[in-house]
Amino acid sequence: MTDADPVAGRDYPKTWVQFEDWFASEDACAGYLEKLRWPGGFCCPACGVMDAPVRASRRRLVCRSCAHQCSVTAGTIFDKTRTPLRVWFAAAWHITSQKNGVSALGLQRVLGLSSYQTAWTMLHRFRRAMVRPQRDKLAGTVEVDEAYLPLSRGPRTKSGKASSKAHDKSHLVAIAVAVEVHDPKGFGRIRIHRVQGPTIDALIPFVRENVIPGATIRTDGSAIYAPLQKDGFGHEPFVQLGSKIPAHVSLPGVHRVISLLKRWLLGTHQGAVDPRHVDYYLDEFTFRFNRRSSRSRGMLFYRLLQQSVATTPATYANIRDNEHQAPPALLATETVELNG
Ligand SMILES: [Zn+2]
Repeated sequence: MTDADPVAGRDYPKTWVQFEDWFASEDACAGYLEKLRWPGGFCCPACGVMDAPVRASRRRLVCRSCAHQCSVTAGTIFDKTRTPLRVWFAAAWHITSQKNGVSALGLQRVLGLSSYQTAWTMLHRFRRAMVRPQRDKLAGTVEVDEAYLPLSRGPRTKSGKASSKAHDKSHLVAIAVAVEVHDPKGFGRIRIHRVQGPTIDALIPFVRENVIPGATIRTDGSAIYAPLQKDGFGHEPFVQLGSKIPAHVSLPGVHRVISLLKRWLLGTHQGAVDPRHVDYYLDEFTFRFNRRSSRSRGMLFYRLLQQSVATTPATYANIRDNEHQAPPALLATETVELNG
């Protein structure tokens, strides 16, 4: 996949009118996904040979070398979907064209879907695609801290009705936050993960997983970061015990991100985030935050679809039960299902 900047009007639609023009048929959508999935031309998932495939249909491709059949959507978040690609594309457009995104109920309404569950599943599959597993780690100076998010569990039933007991079950979810800070001011990219608790066991792996060795870690001075220095991380503790410096002064990046995240969860999602699914919301927030300076919303649409064809499929049941899929590295040996 190329990371060169895509161009509005050539690589993705500039406007909704142009969007409708480009994606008027299932074939047009499938053709677009094919280009995103194989930007250098079709590459057989079974034998790895790059050669123009035989086309049994727009979505069914046959390798000239080994006769393996696959579809452009197999092994992506669109795998085995019964929802038309045009609806998926419209959903991606709505999710990315609004600054703060949409709730499942909002998506159901704007797309005119009869089923809340369909909207919910599409939204969660897209969320799953929002953060690339192979993404670059944070670098430079990185603030790291933990926080708690107050969440209330699933206030909506399958039919989309709000449950009256929504606020009876509020949970505190521990998260770890890392923010690149620029000198003299400004913030770069972020990472947010749910952790078991603010303990050495949770935060040290979080830093190792998300920050490149050699970066300088800025923390609140807690001794738990001492082991990181052995891994090559620099460490700038801000000792707060006994000092008069409040957290939002010593770690302004983390403080800002946490407050934006809380506002987003309360605003767009009205605080109604099932703690079992909080990882997906954190991924969506991270996706939006890290692309906040994108000049065009269409660019976000492009990136979302680009990442969607590189993400393993998930069913309603395994999103609901929060089961994790095989990592994309296993895609080369994917079981191919024909989608017609
Ligand atoms: Zn082949």
